[in-house]
Amino acid sequence: MDLSVVVPLYNEEANLEALHAEVVAALDQLNLEWEAVYVDDGSSDSTYQVLERLAAQDKRIVGVRLRKNFGQTAAMSAGFDYSQGKVVVTMDGDLQNDPRDIAKLLAKLNEGFDIAAGWRFDRQDAFLSRKLPSRLANGLISLITKVKLHDYGCTLKAFRREVVRNIRLYGEMHRFIPAIASWMGVSIAEVPVNHRPRRAGKSKYGIGRTPRVLLDLITVKFLLSYVTRPIQIFGKWGLAAGAAGFLLALYYTVMRLFWAEPMWGKPGVILAVLLLFVGVQLISIGLLGEMQMRIYYETQNKPIYTVRQVLNREEGRGCS
Ligand code: UDP
Ligand code: MG
Repeated sequence: MDLSVVVPLYNEEANLEALHAEVVAALDQLNLEWEAVYVDDGSSDSTYQVLERLAAQDKRIVGVRLRKNFGQTAAMSAGFDYSQGKVVVTMDGDLQNDPRDIAKLLAKLNEGFDIAAGWRFDRQDAFLSRKLPSRLANGLISLITKVKLHDYGCTLKAFRREVVRNIRLYGEMHRFIPAIASWMGVSIAEVPVNHRPRRAGKSKYGIGRTPRVLLDLITVKFLLSYVTRPIQIFGKWGLAAGAAGFLLALYYTVMRLFWAEPMWGKPGVILAVLLLFVGVQLISIGLLGEMQMRIYYETQNKPIYTVRQVLNREEGRGCS
C-alpha cells in the first residue's frame, strides 16, 4: 500500500459523499495503490450510515467507527492505527482541504522530506474568532518549539510511516505532530495549499480552543526539551529561588541578631520564606520527574535516541 488518507469525521453527513468523490478523483490520477481511512468519531447524525454505504461500494475505504466522540486527535490516532500505507496523509472531512493538494505533498516527500505540512495561506474562516488567534498561536508555537511553520492547525499533512509509528497522541496534540516528531530529527517541508469555506455542517471549534492549545504547547515544550532531564529545568529554578530566599533570610537574621532590627512586619521576610519553600518544592518536583522519566523509558524499553542508519551491524532496536 503506497498511501493512506486518514480523515476524522464528526457529524459530517452532508460532506462525506462529496469528499470521497473528490478523494477518488484526485488519487486515481496518481497511479498509486491507496486507501481512505474514514474514522467516524461518534457522530450523532447519519455520518456512519453514509460511510457504510460508501464502504460497500468502494473497497478502498476502511471505515472505523468509534464508540463515542473522542475528539479529533483521538480519531486521527485511530486512523493511523488502522492505516497501512507507506505514506499517511491526514485531512479534514468537511471539504475545507482540497484532496488535489495531496499530489503536492507527496512530491515533497519524494524530494526526501519526512513530513509535508499544508499551509492555508488564504484561509477561509472568520477573522476574529479563528484566524487571529490562530496567527498568534502559530507565532508562539514556532518560537517555543523551534519548528518553523506558518500554519500548525492545517490538518492536511503528509507523513512517512516511520513518523506516525513513533508518535503517541494525547489531548489536542494533532497540530503538534511536526513539533513532536522534530524530536526524532525529521525534516519538514511546508506546502501552500488551497483552503475553502465550510459549506455544510458546523465547525466543532471556536475561541474556546485557545487555552487547550496553550496547555498542550507547555507539554510539548517539556517533552521536547526536558523529558529526559527534568531536574535540569525544575532544579535550575529551584536552586535560584532557594538561593535568593536563603540570602534574603540570612540578611534579615543578621540584621536581627547584630543590629536588633525587628523581623516582624517586613514583606521581605515573607518573600524569603516563600522563596525557600518554592525552591525546595521545585527541586523535589524535579527529582520526582527524574524517577518518572526512568520509569517511562525503562519499563517500555524506549530508547532516548533515534537512529538513521547503522553500518556493519544488523539493525537492532531503535525507532526507525
Ligand atoms: N472532528 C472530529 N471530532 C471532533 C471534532 C472534529 O473528528 O470531536 C473532525 C471534523 O469532522 C472535521 C475535522 O475534525 O473533519 C476538523 O473539524 P472542524 O472542521 O470543525 O474544525 P475547523 O476546520 O473549524 O478548525
Ligand atoms: Mg473545518
